[in-house]
Amino acid sequence: MRFIEFMPLDADRAWNRDLMVPAAEVYKRISAKWPLIPVVHERSETARKYRFADSRGEIGLIAPVTQPFCGHCSRIRLTADGKLRTCLFSKDDHDLKSLLRGAATDREIGDAIHAIVDQKEKGHRINEPDFVAPSRTMVFIGG
Ligand code: SF4
Repeated sequence: MRFIEFMPLDADRAWNRDLMVPAAEVYKRISAKWPLIPVVHERSETARKYRFADSRGEIGLIAPVTQPFCGHCSRIRLTADGKLRTCLFSKDDHDLKSLLRGAATDREIGDAIHAIVDQKEKGHRINEPDFVAPSRTMVFIGG
């Protein structure tokens, strides 16, 4: 099972820091009843994994708000309507559909993707005072 912190990507725009249960709190509550042992994970993995000390199974805690892992992120997303997003929290996305449906060559499409990826954000900035939630919510982006 994975637990992920509530992020400001909800369709209702109801996200509020006070509504979020930090991963550290989830860890505290579970480990108080079922002691946990850390499991080694890859740097690029988003979940910190733990196994139960006295039984089978493991959990993963994903803490994008309180312990951002953007520094190791190389993800980009292609949406169902042909937009390339360089971060879940990008303010804008980049149109690829017109290139794909138009007369662009593979080389031109590749160059366009490289140019877009060069603009990838360093992180989500949720914890910055000037943070602005992205125009597209998770339901439009995909997981
Ligand atoms: S850079 Fe963006 S997409 Fe990557 S982990 Fe951070 S918030 Fe998620």
